Amino acid sequence: MSTSSIEAHVALVGNPNAGKTTLFNELTGQNQKIGNYAGATVTKKSGKFFTPHGHQLELIDLPGTYSLEPNSPDEEVTRDVLLGDQHGEPVPDLILCVLDATNLERHLYLMLQVIDLGYPVVAALNKIDLAESQGLRIDPTALSEDFKIPFVPLSAATSRGITALKQALRFPFPAAPGRLWTGPAELEDAIEAATRLAETHEQPKPEAHALLSVAEKGSETESFIQKTRFEFIHRAIEAGLQRPDEAALELTDRIDAHALHPFRGWLIFCSLMFGVFWSIFKFAEVPMGWIESGQEAVQGWVGGLLAEGDLNSLLVDGIIAGVGGVVIFLPQIILLFFFISLLESSGYMARAAYLMDGIMNKAGLSGKSFLPLLSGYACAIPGVMATRTIPSAKERLATILILPWTSCSARLPVYVLIIPIMVSGAFAQGATLFGIYALGTVTALIAARLLKPRLGASEPPQFLLELPPYQKPQWSHLLRQVGERAFAFIKKAGTIILGLSIILWFLETYPKSGSDDPVVQQEQSFNGRIGQAIEPVVAPLGWDARMGTAMMASFAAREVFRSSLAISYSVDEEDGTAMREQLSNATRADGSALYTPLVGLSIIIFFIYALQCLPTTVIVRRETGSWKWALAQLGGMTLFAYLAALLVYQAGLLLGFT
Ligand code: GDP
Repeated sequence: MSTSSIEAHVALVGNPNAGKTTLFNELTGQNQKIGNYAGATVTKKSGKFFTPHGHQLELIDLPGTYSLEPNSPDEEVTRDVLLGDQHGEPVPDLILCVLDATNLERHLYLMLQVIDLGYPVVAALNKIDLAESQGLRIDPTALSEDFKIPFVPLSAATSRGITALKQALRFPFPAAPGRLWTGPAELEDAIEAATRLAETHEQPKPEAHALLSVAEKGSETESFIQKTRFEFIHRAIEAGLQRPDEAALELTDRIDAHALHPFRGWLIFCSLMFGVFWSIFKFAEVPMGWIESGQEAVQGWVGGLLAEGDLNSLLVDGIIAGVGGVVIFLPQIILLFFFISLLESSGYMARAAYLMDGIMNKAGLSGKSFLPLLSGYACAIPGVMATRTIPSAKERLATILILPWTSCSARLPVYVLIIPIMVSGAFAQGATLFGIYALGTVTALIAARLLKPRLGASEPPQFLLELPPYQKPQWSHLLRQVGERAFAFIKKAGTIILGLSIILWFLETYPKSGSDDPVVQQEQSFNGRIGQAIEPVVAPLGWDARMGTAMMASFAAREVFRSSLAISYSVDEEDGTAMREQLSNATRADGSALYTPLVGLSIIIFFIYALQCLPTTVIVRRETGSWKWALAQLGGMTLFAYLAALLVYQAGLLLGFT
């Protein structure tokens, strides 16, 4: 379909959780486009659909927001599009406001703000199914009379009322009701004057600019206008909404009596979180095995097609192995996103954030940061992506910056290899592993506390946490969301990893040693030479050139550490026991043991703190919108890791450990 046939632009506006995404999917179906706003990292979703009269409309899904006083870059985009200030975006012809019928009072506020801007508006009274089940009775006609716009009751999740909604969007669009309240004479004069000023500056939507400019944040005028709007809404709701009797809300209250209980609440919370993580590791195992055998099969097949040589090696050892090494995490990521979406859509997530709020506050964060950080224990990439739900830009940045210190699952194979060299006995080994996770977590929280005040100007206080009623998850919506996120992971990590795999392969393959011995080749390669060159740098940590080489290689992804060491000692990487034996027998030039417990500790300390995962750096660059933060994080964490390992090793030597 060509753009020329689009007859009008409609923008979807609504509070977070109103059901915008669900309605957007319902209206546009497969006919969607996902991109970014020009010059911003905010995701832009648009799509097309036909009205029952055959007019084609373009629908753009603006980021969810509580008001037009933005608290985040996403919310700024919404305001700017509505003001006509968003570069490259047309001024919408009509606004489709999505309201959560179970939470009308709050949701009507944003809609009233949009009406004030002078737009024609159609109100989608969503989640009407839920409102009914709660015993709320809403009178759309009464609301329509008060707000002078059509109200269409519907349920996006069950496709109810969609046709009626499309009919309400018929041409010509309903007229803009204009501002529904008037202020005292001086305020009206001020708005009038500001409008004329905006006109002389040829600003689009002059009246809208005027209204926002007279009501500056924190001013008396602002609070007057807020009050006036809420009074208007209260009067309208009085006529249009009948509240349920107590019994209907009882279920949510009854569940919350346990879920928010100071003792039982924590028990439920811990069991749920434990269950989630147990399931991730348990259920991901099998599909991870499939991906691994699939990868081996493809390697075997491609390897057999081509003659031995560089091209064969590039495809098999470089590209397929490199991309496979990232795709292997897909099952964990899908499961993690599945559980996050499940907890979100059932309403439990808001309770979890509520419980965690106090603890996270000690680190200068809020309950909203908890889940992204928790996700980091599986993999930093979905964790960083999950920070999008944090409304404060500063808190979001702080969370992203510290997140890689929650120990991701790619570090585990390294820990498992090294810990037995340090201590023996299952209990001591388990305790060491626990200590490793605790050390990363505590350092991350301290870092957040130190960092956050330094990340820019202070922000207005955030909205209180909303505790929505519990509800049954909408499976189709949930699965779609999981699919979208999984695809984003494959696309973002996959393309970059492809490039990196080629570079890494090149560094390991050239220059050619001419020998068939992989040990010789590894020493001869650029990578091996880098390892030898940095030996003086890593020697104070107790490492030799082979460890330096393995460490350099693992900057692309930590998993490579094992395989690189395995090549150095010519053992099968899969055989952990043989590998550990080789490491235990390795000696320095003077014959002393190389992998002493102290050296093991120094390796582990480095792995806890170093950010050895380029896909994470790439995702951080995307999510923060600048290389500055991504590179500062990479450099900062590497330096910290080096210094921490240095301190531990040197202090250990001084104390007489070996
Ligand atoms: P957005 O934040 O505005 O994009 O909201 P979503 O579309 O993600 O929806 C938020 C939650 O409300 C999801 O769990 C949806 O499944 C749920 N939801 C959306 N529309 C309806 C509806 O009509 N009825 C019910 N019961 N739930 C809905």
